[in-house]
Amino acid sequence: MSVVARVALPGEVRLALLPPLALYAHLPWCVRKCPYCDFNSHESRGELPVAEYVAALIADLEAMLPSVWGRRIVSVFIGGGTPSLFPPEAIDRLLSEIRARLTVEPGAEITLEANPGTVESARFRGYREAGVNRLSLGVQSFDDAMLAALGRIHSAGEATRAIDAAQAWFDNVNIDLMYGLPGQSLEMARSDFAEAVRRGTTHVSAYQLTIEPNTVFFRHRPTLPEHDACADMQDAVEEALAASGFEHYETSAFARPGKRCRHNLNYWEFGDYLGIGAGAHGKVSFPDRITRHERIKQPREYLAAGPCLQERVLSVDDLTFEFMLNALRLIDGFPAGLFTARTGLQGAVIERGLRAAEAKGLVERTRDRIRPSERGRLFLNELVALFLPAP
Ligand code: SF4
Repeated sequence: MSVVARVALPGEVRLALLPPLALYAHLPWCVRKCPYCDFNSHESRGELPVAEYVAALIADLEAMLPSVWGRRIVSVFIGGGTPSLFPPEAIDRLLSEIRARLTVEPGAEITLEANPGTVESARFRGYREAGVNRLSLGVQSFDDAMLAALGRIHSAGEATRAIDAAQAWFDNVNIDLMYGLPGQSLEMARSDFAEAVRRGTTHVSAYQLTIEPNTVFFRHRPTLPEHDACADMQDAVEEALAASGFEHYETSAFARPGKRCRHNLNYWEFGDYLGIGAGAHGKVSFPDRITRHERIKQPREYLAAGPCLQERVLSVDDLTFEFMLNALRLIDGFPAGLFTARTGLQGAVIERGLRAAEAKGLVERTRDRIRPSERGRLFLNELVALFLPAP
């Protein structure tokens, strides 16, 4: 009997090939909750239940295995929270247990997030020996006054020492930096990014401070630089990093050639990922549907009751909007065929939105590529909103 591949009907998901699959592990504790942070992170009180939590992560992964049978993992990201609160032995055990259950591709990028106030050189070495090959440091600023305004536990000196220590063991180091901070001038922002360049890191993630609901800053709002001042900072950051050889490849991400974050690229290209740990999300595709998973957020409940997984199948509207929300963050956009390859939907689904975006000068299209225009990058929310379902 021969099997004939059928073209998807409008509104029908039909994937010819499953996308790459990554793995995210969430370690949800921090020394102290930063006043601007709306991540699922919790102040660690007393000793962390390290062994218990790693066991829970593995149980969580095991429950997901039937849905990804035979697939290989292209990248691993251990994020948080502050994963560097976990000792190298725990990270080693976690990575070994993952490898015992899934094939991690040779040379896969394996990132661990660390905070400058929680690490010393011996720990970095331990993480390297456990198999981590990329480190992401939450530096935020090299200015003590800015770090204090952000409620960070580290000083500028600790940040530079952490970068030096990281670079002793890793040739791929990201630092997160923020701009638009309370009391920050354009010169101060410039100086932070110049320091990042001087330090020789391979990747910089640059975020403008925004005030999110459910944060201390939302209740006690600090005075932030005006909108125009923040826009000037953004321009200055982009110029400084480009002049120093960084490629701006996503709204907030800058990389030395060859050092783009493969794990995050997989999100932006609408790849699949398993998410394990308290509050972690996942996305898994099947030939005829694409699903999302969510887990219980509170670490204590996650430990006591397991992930309490909630799963839903994404609708055509969800797929269209979520694909665009991710892929239009990429400065070079995406190949024209990627929408169908990743959502299993016909390209006609996005045609109306693309035409509207072109009419407003928000996207540029060639025969084989769709990318946000300069204006589209500036008004990304407006651009993405064109792919929401009609009211
Ligand atoms: S260290 Fe990072 S994850 Fe933890 S509270 Fe601060 S911003 Fe949030």
